[in-house]
This record gives sequence, structure tokens and C-alpha cells, in this order.
Amino acid sequence: MIEKVLIANRGEIALRILRACRELGIKTVAVHSEADRDLKHVLLADESVCIGPAPSRDSYLQIPAIISAAEVTDTVAIHPGYGFLSENADFAERVERSGFIFIGPRPETIRLMGDKVSAINAMRAAGVPCVPGSDGPLDEDKRRTMEIARQIGYPVIIKAAGGGGGRGMRVVHSEATLLNSIALTRAEAAAAFGNETVYMEKYLENPRHIEFQVLADQHGNAIHLGERDCSMQRRHQKVVEEAPAPGITEEQRRRIGERCAEACRTIGYRGAGTFEFLYENGEFYFIEMNTRVQVEHPVTEMITGVDIVREQIRIAADEPLRYRQEDIEIRGHAIECRINAEDSETFRPSPGRIEEFHGPGGPGIRLDTHIYSGYVVPPYYDSMIGKLIAHGEDRDSALARMCNALRETVIEGISTNIPLQRQIMKDVAFRAGGANIHYLEKKLGM
Ligand code: ADP
Repeated sequence: MIEKVLIANRGEIALRILRACRELGIKTVAVHSEADRDLKHVLLADESVCIGPAPSRDSYLQIPAIISAAEVTDTVAIHPGYGFLSENADFAERVERSGFIFIGPRPETIRLMGDKVSAINAMRAAGVPCVPGSDGPLDEDKRRTMEIARQIGYPVIIKAAGGGGGRGMRVVHSEATLLNSIALTRAEAAAAFGNETVYMEKYLENPRHIEFQVLADQHGNAIHLGERDCSMQRRHQKVVEEAPAPGITEEQRRRIGERCAEACRTIGYRGAGTFEFLYENGEFYFIEMNTRVQVEHPVTEMITGVDIVREQIRIAADEPLRYRQEDIEIRGHAIECRINAEDSETFRPSPGRIEEFHGPGGPGIRLDTHIYSGYVVPPYYDSMIGKLIAHGEDRDSALARMCNALRETVIEGISTNIPLQRQIMKDVAFRAGGANIHYLEKKLGM
């Protein structure tokens, strides 16, 4: 077993990882920036190391500082969490070359999935349904490019192979602007991602975002834990997530989930991962794979009873999966509201001191947060300060519990998006289930 884990992250996910380690009897090392000395997991960890100044690029993204911290603390394994270095293949490689276990997929897998063109090719080869598209990079042959677009049918979307975070994409509605849009996206991609490769896909007009959670061990076993619906988004940022996805049948879940698990076996995937799909008119279209734990993993944990972070650690320790597919049973419904330190109307970040904090409680309520009364939310990082998760025997019960919990939660001193979350929970279309990815922005008048 792994004796000591270094947590290369901050905030709620660092605390989540620390808790999983404690449960497994594993010692923890927290690494933190100068602005994060008072983070809850730093105070709780067995050891902590300051790795640099507040800005992420000087601390949480500093590979040599993290490796040194691992060396001086006799760390065995490194958990990258999400964001920061979690999908950086070079980091995973450096971790392994330095003799540590990387709690995540092999560096080659991260690299394969980090390039969207190679990811799509690998998925198509493994039988995962993808968006109709150019089947590879677009080249300089203008006539061929126009022919591809005509075959796919407008609108199309031009995407950067190295893109991420909702950047490096352009929708094209007609042939008149096609070549110019490709040139623009290519130039932007070269500047932003150092990779000018672009490809084309059919632009789906009103899809939902539905993703499948997988777990794969190093012994050839892979399972899926069903799907999540993350269609409530603002500027490509998820705001509310739920599992299972409303209206998805047992047959669809089995069929797509099994394809994802099979793809994991084919590519020799290791650890936890997520296959993201757009879903429209009853069809699933793969768009990308995330090779890490996701913010929204708790909704899957609540309905399956599987502790995803614990399984990540077990898998990294080379243990075989403890579950077979037939052991996975979906019980009830879970909803997650992301709690952000931001103004509920203007979305302006609202860092500062939390004067008063009272968490919610009751059956089926889970709050993953690192905040406490007196904690100062620093201005340097993502504004998410926690996740409120409600589980119930069905969607209505989860919704009712979520509404109660949002009402009970008190966070004073800073602004949060709790008022917006209350509004979403009362929204008629959200309550009906199955709204598409544009719904929230339309509702907000964006
Ligand atoms: P990123 O890695 O930047 O998050 P994704 O490929 O996951 O990029 O796409 C981000 C978002 O862009 C999707 O959630 C969806 O809203 C939109 N999008 C991407 N591809 C398509 C498509 N083919 N049709 C419609 N919308 C798309």
C-alpha cells in the first residue's frame, strides 16, 4: 500500500483527497502557496510545505517545487486533483521519473487525450460514437475543406486540437466565412496552445452535456459508474450537475457506458476518467475525455456508493478494482450546486473574509468545502469555495433536500452565488429536467 500521499492541489478537492487518505490510513503532505497557509487541509495534513508565492504559476504550477516537496517529505504518491497540473502529461512523466507514483493515468494516455484529434481517433477506433466531422486535422487544401463542410452540413464548428477550457472554437454558419474562420482559429490556437492543428465537427445546436464516469485498474478491468448531466452551464463553466441524467434509459446507460469501459480496456486506461458527450435527439456524441477526478464526482458517489477518490488511490497502489460492473447499482438521484464566491447577479468574484459560516445538514446532504468562519478567500484562484450535494430516493426528493440545504446555508462577509442556485432550483425548466446547454445563459439573458 501507499504510505504517504502529497496533495498537489488546494481548496475543497485537496480536503477531499486528504479525507480519503485518512480513511485508508495514508499519511498526507499538503503543498501550498504563501496565500494558502490557512487552508483547512493544510492545517489538517500530517506535513505541509510552502512551495511558492500566491500566483498559481509560481506555486501550484511549479513542477520542480512540487517534486522537491515530495522528495524532502519521503512522499510515495502524488495526487493532482483537478485543474492545475492534473492533465499535464509532462508533470505526470516528471513525477514517475522521479520515482513517485502518479495517481492518475499513464503520461502517454494523458498526452493522447490532451490532443483532441488523437483522442477522437482513439475513441472512434474503440467504437465510441463521435460527432460527425473531418476525421482528423484540416489541411491547406481549400477545396477539400469546403467539401468536408458541405458533407457534414452547416453549421459546423472549428476546434483547436490543443484547445481547452472552452477556448479555441469557432462556429461557422455558411461557406462564405468558412476559410476565414479556419485561418482565425488556427492563428489563435498557435498563439494560445502552441499547436495550430484544427479540425471540424458538426455544430450541434441544442445538445445536453452528458458524461460517463469510468474506473479502470492496472489489471485490465474497467467499469462505468453511469452518467451525469452537466447541462446547466455559464460560459462553459458547469453550475449544477446531477446523476442520473433525466430521461436517459437503462439501455442507453448500459450501451454507452459499456463502450466507454471497453475503450478504457483498449487504450490501457488507468484510474478514474470521464467521457464527455453532447446528447441531442437521442444520440450521444463524444467530445473529449478528462483524465482526472472531476469537480462533480460526488453526484456519482452518492448514487453508486463508490468512493471515487479512494478507488483512484487503490488503483494507483496497483490493487485490482473491487467492483465488477454488475455490482454497480444506481440508487436514487443526486444534484450538486457549485458554491462560488461571486456576486449572484454580476458574477464578479467576491474574495474576502468569511465572517460567519453555518453549513446545512439533514438526510442526504453533503457539503464538500474548505471554508470555515474566519477563513479568508484569497483573490488569486478559482472562485469555487464548495459544492453542496443533495441525494434523495428520486429527483423530486433530491430537489426538495437541495432547496432546504440552500436555505439553511449561511455564508456572511462575502457574496456567493447561493441566491442564483436557489433560483435555478425553482426554475420550471430545470425542475422538468433535460434542459440543454444554452438554457441557463438564455435564462440569465446573456
Ligand atoms: P474544452 O476542452 O475547451 O472544454 P470541449 O470540446 O469539451 O472543449 O467543448 C466545450 C464546449 O463547447 C462543449 O461543452 C459545448 O458546449 C461546445 N461544443 C464543443 N463541440 C461542439 C459541437 N460539435 N457542437 C456544439 N457545441 C459544441
